[in-house]
Amino acid sequence: MEILYKSTRGDKQLVTASEAILQGLAKDGGLFVPERLPALDKTPEEFAKMTYQETAYEVMKLLLTDFTEEELKSCIQKAYGDSFDTEAIAPLTQAQGVWFLELFHGRTIAFKDMALSILPHLMTTAARKNRVQNEIVILTATSGDTGKAALAGFAGVEGTKILVFYPKNGVSPIQERQMVTQKGDNTRVVGIHGNFDDAQTGVKRLFADRELALRMQEKGFQFSSANSINIGRLVPQIVYYVYAYAQLLKEGRIEVGEEINVVVPTGNFGNILAAFYAKNMGLPIRKLICASNDNKVLYDFLTTGVYDRNREFYLTTSPSMDILVSSNLERLIYCIAGGDSKKDAVLMEQLAAEGKYEITEEMRTGLADFWGGYATQKQAAEKIRTLYEDTGYVIDPHTAVAAAVYDGYRAKTQDPVKTVIASTASPFKFTRSVMTAIDPGYETADDFELVDELSRIGCVPVPGAIEEIRSAPVLHRTECEKDQMKEAVEDFLGL
Ligand SMILES: *Cc1c(COP(=O)(O)O)cnc(C)c1O
Repeated sequence: MEILYKSTRGDKQLVTASEAILQGLAKDGGLFVPERLPALDKTPEEFAKMTYQETAYEVMKLLLTDFTEEELKSCIQKAYGDSFDTEAIAPLTQAQGVWFLELFHGRTIAFKDMALSILPHLMTTAARKNRVQNEIVILTATSGDTGKAALAGFAGVEGTKILVFYPKNGVSPIQERQMVTQKGDNTRVVGIHGNFDDAQTGVKRLFADRELALRMQEKGFQFSSANSINIGRLVPQIVYYVYAYAQLLKEGRIEVGEEINVVVPTGNFGNILAAFYAKNMGLPIRKLICASNDNKVLYDFLTTGVYDRNREFYLTTSPSMDILVSSNLERLIYCIAGGDSKKDAVLMEQLAAEGKYEITEEMRTGLADFWGGYATQKQAAEKIRTLYEDTGYVIDPHTAVAAAVYDGYRAKTQDPVKTVIASTASPFKFTRSVMTAIDPGYETADDFELVDELSRIGCVPVPGAIEEIRSAPVLHRTECEKDQMKEAVEDFLGL
């Protein structure tokens, strides 16, 4: 059965999956959602026999229905191959009675690789299918990890260009170094003087700029988005929840049909929304535990029904979660509004105008599957240290937020359901925060000394992604004010 996509805000246009991937955002500013969520058509036992790539095909074919089998399999093969450092692609590690689903074995050692290694292939395939002649220009705002993962995914991909904006003082030194050393003639990286929300708001404005779009069209360019609002990011993220469940079953850790909990360190709400979609496609998930850091706008929303971005913004040790406007939440809002796009549009207008909205009691009942928690930087650091001292396993600060929130959940609920924590970055990506959490004495060491020390104490080899940037030359030095992003685009495209 063909699945078409529609806007959360009521635009009547129905598009195919490939059109939605190319377009990124719907014309009315809404997000594309599938008309309905198809059910998984393989049993857990069948999934347990599959490789990651096979699982990816079985899941993605249900939602990307206008891609042929051959097209989809080719995209999957290009994405989930040698660029991952383990055949499992997304392995599970057990520690302190929970399973860490390691989503950081791709090229840039963070979970964004799970989707961004396949998105460029989905996008160029979609362009071909829709007879698009223009060059696709990817415009991305990043809080750190998306940028590099998108750059790595799109660099050198014919028919595409990519421009990444990041908050100049809002990403880790290693994240920044990863981006500014990016090779590829079709890439550009710009540091803006502002925070991630400024970057994201600026990108949204550029996407909506008709005048710019016209001038680009004349020169043979069109925008597309690699941000997590793109349905081509969301769909590949459903895969690893199905895969994780199947692996637990295969290893005899759970019975067929047994429910598991999932804990997700959340920022833009993409990763946890994928888990929610997986649940609604029939994967036995009980609770979706949404973990926030000090920027706990989602925790407040889940516990009070009020979303309010008018608050202090904190730069934390988990920068990819330093977000006050969680874009993908709109897809959940649309869903709990019973698919009523008018309700969604009104709330999103309030968010744009006042930075705030409140959902109805009825809508709140739709949040029953979610449990919101948050952990401060101090609690996350404490979790890194105690987990390491207890088990020798080292986790990154984002994953630590999730693990700390899960501890709080357990203490409060005594819920014995087996639990998977999405482990979203390698500790090597945030070496300084991780090492000083383990021992403040590390504060004086330089970043690469810390990398070697982490490798020693954690008994894990230094990932290739880090080795690579030790000596790589800086290729991108552009900076701009937050209101000069349009000029940066014009300069990059020669408009
Ligand atoms: C992007 C990111 C997150 C947040 O994921 P969302 O899908 O935006 O909620 C968490 N941790 C890390 C390391 C990330 O890169």
